[in-house]
Amino acid sequence: MLVDSFGRNITYLRISVTDRCNLRCRYCMPQGGISYKVPAEILSFEEICRIARAASCLGVRKLRITGGEPLVRKDLSLLVRELRSIREIDEIALTTNGIYLSEYARELKEAGLDRVNVSLDSLVEDKFEKITRGGKLASVLKGIDALFAARLAPVRINTVLLKGFNDDEIMSFAQLTRTDPIDARFIEHMPTRLGHGACGDDQFFSAREAKEICGRLGRLIPVDRGSRSTARAYRIDGFYGTVGFISPITEPFCRSCDKLRLTSDGVLKSCLHLPHGIDIKEAMRGGATDEDLGRLIEKAVASKPRAHNLLTMPLGRNSENFSMCQIGG
Ligand code: SAM
Ligand code: SF4
Repeated sequence: MLVDSFGRNITYLRISVTDRCNLRCRYCMPQGGISYKVPAEILSFEEICRIARAASCLGVRKLRITGGEPLVRKDLSLLVRELRSIREIDEIALTTNGIYLSEYARELKEAGLDRVNVSLDSLVEDKFEKITRGGKLASVLKGIDALFAARLAPVRINTVLLKGFNDDEIMSFAQLTRTDPIDARFIEHMPTRLGHGACGDDQFFSAREAKEICGRLGRLIPVDRGSRSTARAYRIDGFYGTVGFISPITEPFCRSCDKLRLTSDGVLKSCLHLPHGIDIKEAMRGGATDEDLGRLIEKAVASKPRAHNLLTMPLGRNSENFSMCQIGG
């Protein structure tokens, strides 16, 4: 079992498979992108599977594939298939911007993918284009339909709350849950250096305010997603799907955090907001045994802080190392 210094049991590994992305969301990436890692620095599928296997031997049961945009990585379903063959893993999920989903939903399902989170910040075409700097809403909606067709429901839609941009669409997102198996989740914006300037503090909109707005559609009935869930989930009375609220800023969920992160260039990070991590790729490429990898995973878990430092560290101190697209959100 992987238990950190504060008694939290770590069972969830988020794996970033690329630092590249086909969108440029204003709060995540600068217009010109970031300086990408060269291909040799990025973990191969074999290396990812080896780390996932070592983590599963120590108690990890859930994997999430993320990025950058994971679907820009070629043959992603081969990775899913390989990860699926790890006996101890109960669930494999994917977080995507959805642009390429219509192309890959079916083969991902066949490869063994269990569920998908689609990031979607506006249901209005020109607003979507603006926040993503050029993305096409129609492609994402087609991707969501493809998830239903591939029996990858319920579909989670994750929306980063931005005051003055999409707070007027909270009802529309919640309405998506009326007749379909959709979990509409609202996430508080976290300040990052690379996203700063595009989304400032004046655009912060709390999950609590989003919940109040959803409550206007009907009584909110709590749904139990287990104590480790980052979202507080509710069903609006009479609705089919659920709404969820994720509040890393106003009500941090660090106390129940069960996550470890692996960046696309092979660094294990015990907290999204820590600037440093443990370079497991270097060790692996230097001839580390499976036992050595296990020890490095345990070391990363032991370094997990009690809570994130977002509210105490001035913006910029977390520097170049902190970019959501490199770590995977
Ligand atoms: N490209 C994929 C996507 O957009 O789903 C996966 C990677 S993206 C970094 C993962 C998640 O992080 C997305 O849901 C995105 O909205 C979220 N995210 C990125 N920057 C964020 C920020 N500053 N605050 C809150 N969420 C953020
Ligand atoms: Fe790309 Fe996802 Fe970041 Fe948007 S949030 S720029 S889709 S990595």
